[in-house]
Amino acid sequence: MEQELRVRFAPSPTGPFHIGGARSALFNWLLARKEGGKLILRIEDTDLERSTRESEENIKAALRWLGIEWDEGIDIGGDYGPYRQTERLDIYRQYTKKLLDAGQAYYCYCTEEELDAERQQQMDKGETPRYNGRCRQLSEADRNRFIAEGRKPTVRFRVPDNQQIIFKDLVRGTVSFESNGVGDFVIVKSDGIPVYNYAVVLDDALMKITHVIRAEEHLSNTPRQILLYQALGLPLPQFGHISLILGKDRTKMSKRHGATSVEQYKNLGYLPEGIVNFLALLGWAPAGEQEIFSPEELIREFSMDRVAKNPAVFDVDKLNHINAHY
Ligand code: GLU
Repeated sequence: MEQELRVRFAPSPTGPFHIGGARSALFNWLLARKEGGKLILRIEDTDLERSTRESEENIKAALRWLGIEWDEGIDIGGDYGPYRQTERLDIYRQYTKKLLDAGQAYYCYCTEEELDAERQQQMDKGETPRYNGRCRQLSEADRNRFIAEGRKPTVRFRVPDNQQIIFKDLVRGTVSFESNGVGDFVIVKSDGIPVYNYAVVLDDALMKITHVIRAEEHLSNTPRQILLYQALGLPLPQFGHISLILGKDRTKMSKRHGATSVEQYKNLGYLPEGIVNFLALLGWAPAGEQEIFSPEELIREFSMDRVAKNPAVFDVDKLNHINAHY
């Protein structure tokens, strides 16, 4: 039996729901509906200072308004709430223990000041800053001294030397990186909270995600994530990184270009069908000339191989033109 397609949308609830996030959600939803698969909603709230429940509620409300339903999450009495990373800390802890026991990760006692000074020194020498591996082999005496000083360690992943990481991105084609360019990186912060790159790998693997479709800004995180999959012996999903959204002046779409959040467009009176139709065409090109699509037509027509590598340009005139059809 063929494996069921499972995709996810994994927003960080740290502010207004950006139109780029809505496009990522939409592409995942279209793919899931087209292939008879499942869309998982996962709230990546490990940034405790910036994450809010209010933002999470806004994201869910905006997805519902757009008609992007998700299929799975924790069961909250009939309705499916999303998964939340802060409710999964025990799971991450078990894997951290495994990595530590296997020597694939280690405690790092370096302070922020020490790390900053080291970074500065490397930059002064014209080198790309990366962790120098000082705590890889810490003597018992040093470790005890740091503990006595009350230092709270982070957990770092031990990046294997001389490995070439090659993967075939569904949008960008073959991408390769050298592990030597990646220093040992922190996977768990000193307060015990996992960082994005680590939690995302465990969750994608445990939630049996088959296709990770997300914004291009995460392409540079993917080699770190692949190294983690390999260390944990977990099967790799397929990756697809969708291009940036630019303003008409071809700089990254931001507040300067006008409204950027779904809520703003809703308040401006745009219709969800218009927004969905417009967002679908932002980086995906249908086979024919058709421009106005119902959600059902989008589902029928959508395919990842027509998702463009080049940046998509947000053209508000086009949005108005499309919206006027609804
Ligand atoms: N939480 C990340 C973000 O909102 C998700 C990245 C991913 O999809 O892996 O940017």
